[in-house]
Amino acid sequence: MSNGNKHLTTSWGAPVGDNQSSMTAGSRGPTLIQDVHLLEKLAHFNRERVPERVVHAKGAGAHGYFEVTNDVRKYTKANFLSEAGKRTPLFVRFSTVAGENGSADTVRDPRGFAVKFYTEEGNYDLVGNNTPVFFIRDAIKFPDFIHTQKRHPQTHLKNPNAIWDFWSLSPESLHQVTILMSDRGIPATFRHMHGFGSHTFKWVNAEGDGVWVKYHFKTEQGVKNLSNEVAAKIAGENADYHTEDLFNAIENGDFPAWKLYVQIMPLEDANTYRFDPFDVTKVWSQKDYPLIEVGRMVLNKNPENYFAEVEQATFSPGTLVPGIDVSPDKMLQGRLFAYHDAHRYRVGANHQALPINRPRYEVNNYQRDGQMRFDNNGGGSVYYEPNSFGGPKESTENKQAAFPVTGIADSVGYDHDDHYTQPGDLYRLLSEEERSRLVETIIGAMKPVEHDEIKLRQIHHFYKADPDYGMRIAKGLGLSVPQEVK
Ligand code: NDP
Repeated sequence: MSNGNKHLTTSWGAPVGDNQSSMTAGSRGPTLIQDVHLLEKLAHFNRERVPERVVHAKGAGAHGYFEVTNDVRKYTKANFLSEAGKRTPLFVRFSTVAGENGSADTVRDPRGFAVKFYTEEGNYDLVGNNTPVFFIRDAIKFPDFIHTQKRHPQTHLKNPNAIWDFWSLSPESLHQVTILMSDRGIPATFRHMHGFGSHTFKWVNAEGDGVWVKYHFKTEQGVKNLSNEVAAKIAGENADYHTEDLFNAIENGDFPAWKLYVQIMPLEDANTYRFDPFDVTKVWSQKDYPLIEVGRMVLNKNPENYFAEVEQATFSPGTLVPGIDVSPDKMLQGRLFAYHDAHRYRVGANHQALPINRPRYEVNNYQRDGQMRFDNNGGGSVYYEPNSFGGPKESTENKQAAFPVTGIADSVGYDHDDHYTQPGDLYRLLSEEERSRLVETIIGAMKPVEHDEIKLRQIHHFYKADPDYGMRIAKGLGLSVPQEVK
């Protein structure tokens, strides 16, 4: 309990004479503006919050490590994956998506699953979710989509009309909607869910040969979920249930772990696969591209300070290391801009220099100045390039692998419009009990929608995925599948 006998000081280090009573003119006051300790205390308090993340505002984090268990050097030259047994420290942040900071953990929502590997060649961020797909596949739709998940501008309430209107007009969302409404839409804890990189990335080996890659973190704790009833009860009793569970598990030495697997696709297959493999609303069938083990992630240390480590942690899918590259996935391409931009706004231009974000190894560049530059700012070292004074230079062996591009610049969608096969496959792989709960959950979520037109449009999509799926939801909503859909 004891913090020793240190003197309380002001933020400029001077001893504080009184921290209980402000300085007043006479015992009744008024209060004197010359009490600079009071002014500083109140002013700093007013500035304690940074803007919360627009999405993924509520989260919990932990430190840990990644250990390679399989040799994947033929696919990537990434140094942290270079040999079995190699360990890399990391930090993970789990989150809900739509709710505000302070909202209940046990809501039906995808979960963010963001990992920062502190590798010897710089940080590598894998910024995924607990689902392998996403609602949309072009970043241009993201602000509209998130508006529908947030609050109505007048009522400040969640708005089922907007949610289902958008989804029914964006049928590419059906796969993710099906996963979200299934049992896995409310994980029992952050420890009992898988994680996915979701997008397609590119791995490049030492010879410069590339492959497409998708990441799967499989929980060693097993997948466990909460029913709607239990989740609602917990949300009322303990809004921080998942945050508390993760902290306590680690504090008690029960360290959660995940196995990391990848699916590997030869580059040429992307031209001939039965759908566009860069479409983030689709999975690659594991029958076509089986899971290959890479390593194991263990979380074994709680943050010492929530704000410094969890709130200020900044992840971006553009935080890449040599041997790992991006794909033309249009959602990923937009995220490459949006994430660091969000952090520059939220945390500041020098967010990557904060202790939780800064690489554990050297950073040598010509960036200088900016708000809150709190290190030595490069001191007197050379501050431009090219220069004649031995400043850091690019290493051409780390140049991004060249790739061909074809076509005409235009605003075009994906060629492939089968939004139904994969949600249908998922529906068909569920047990009868799982299907019943899925259908019940969707009926419950769609009932408050005020417009039959929206409900019928969405029923159409469920029916096209699987007639049984569509008919059961229509029945539950007291509607019929429109004749033209059949
Ligand atoms: P597979 O039979 O090879 O794989 C099925 C996958 O579905 C497994 O990864 C399994 O994960 C997962 N799964 C099982 N139950 C659920 C559930 N209730 N919610 C979400 N995922 C579940 O078949 P395919 O690869 O051909 O995929 C068939 C369908 O499975 C897809 O359309 C997709 O919806 C779903 N799926 C596919 C994934 C993939 O990467 N191919 C990943 C996740 C889902 P687990 O071992 O944890 O049970």
